[in-house]
Amino acid sequence: MSKYHLRCTQCGEVVPDFATWFSQNQSCKCGSKRAVAEYSTDYNKLKTLIEAKAPENFYLYFDFLPFENFDNVISFGEGTIPIENWTYLENFAKEKYDIDCKVLVYRNDLNGGTNTFKDVAASLAATIFKENGIKDFCVASTGNTATAYSRYLALAGIDFTVFVPKCVNPDTVEAILRYGQNVMVCDGDYSFAKQRAAAFHEDNEVLISAGNIDPIRVEAKKTMVFEFMRQLGRIPDVYIQAVSGGTGPIAVEKGISEIGDIFPEAKLPRMLLVQQDTCDPMVQGWERAKTSGFKDGWEKDYPIIDNPQTIVSILSTGNPGMFPVVAPIVKKSGGTFLRVPENNLAQIAKIAKDQCGVYFGPAAAVCLAGFYQALQNGEIHNGETVLINTGEGIRRASSFKEMVDNA
Ligand SMILES: [Zn+2]
Repeated sequence: MSKYHLRCTQCGEVVPDFATWFSQNQSCKCGSKRAVAEYSTDYNKLKTLIEAKAPENFYLYFDFLPFENFDNVISFGEGTIPIENWTYLENFAKEKYDIDCKVLVYRNDLNGGTNTFKDVAASLAATIFKENGIKDFCVASTGNTATAYSRYLALAGIDFTVFVPKCVNPDTVEAILRYGQNVMVCDGDYSFAKQRAAAFHEDNEVLISAGNIDPIRVEAKKTMVFEFMRQLGRIPDVYIQAVSGGTGPIAVEKGISEIGDIFPEAKLPRMLLVQQDTCDPMVQGWERAKTSGFKDGWEKDYPIIDNPQTIVSILSTGNPGMFPVVAPIVKKSGGTFLRVPENNLAQIAKIAKDQCGVYFGPAAAVCLAGFYQALQNGEIHNGETVLINTGEGIRRASSFKEMVDNA
């Protein structure tokens, strides 16, 4: 008996495995691109797994990941990263706002692959592709996805082609080539790179990234909820994350729904999703919705920012196509979207470096800035546990490192 299957979120049809899913061009017969994985393993087993003290990687949760043979695992040590208690942020909240809160930082910069939050998804993709005999993959990307998938797919022996916009960070191109993969610099912006990737996918029958709702990405990232239970024994009250596409919030909701039967006290944390003021279409969409009193169809009314000018290239999704999926999750959680000024990011990253010795990349700085903004907006309350999901280290962001050093 298979340990998992996929279920279409539109029509409920069961897709038995990824071999079938890939053969159907990563979609259900009804045309839907969204499916969730379901498992036959008894979730009580998770109670034993979260007793583990020093797991090597997130394959600790093999029973609740969608592949069959452990021999196919492709890993650089990712996923089971430390959650640290950062007291300087607690002290700030107390001194400036008289708020007693516990502040936890989820250190994605300590993932072994490329020091980013993309490593778990890239690892699980490489593993599942290997298991299913996939030989080629392609994507349009601006940064982290490109480098993380380059490294993990190379280890799995999979040929990977990345279409990048003309404005790509040269550190990214260099990293893709260093991992022996292919990069096509397109003479246009990100949406143009996406068109080129789609054409390559059709002309050459090469599997293409399924985007933020890709069940592989969601299943990899949902393990962060299992990690909250393993490391904290609970779900935090507040979850802060910088958002570009929005797989993170989707994955947190999926993880919480999976553990509901064995940990009924585990509730969706209040989600505070952060964007910098130079590319904040989801924040603007949320503000429109609030103004309208969340009238019917509010989640479909969001702006598109053409060609956003921002130093945070990995948070430069000007067309927030995932807003209709992500925003209702935020609403259900009782959370909100937050806007932070881009011109403070280097200063905020410098304080983290001075206090905790950690060099964060610009997107992680957006997330940290969200904590300060949340305090200022009264979004954090006395007695709450706040988890800040910091996305990446400073590797591949040499210009931002200079800004931090000079801040
Ligand atoms: Zn369907």
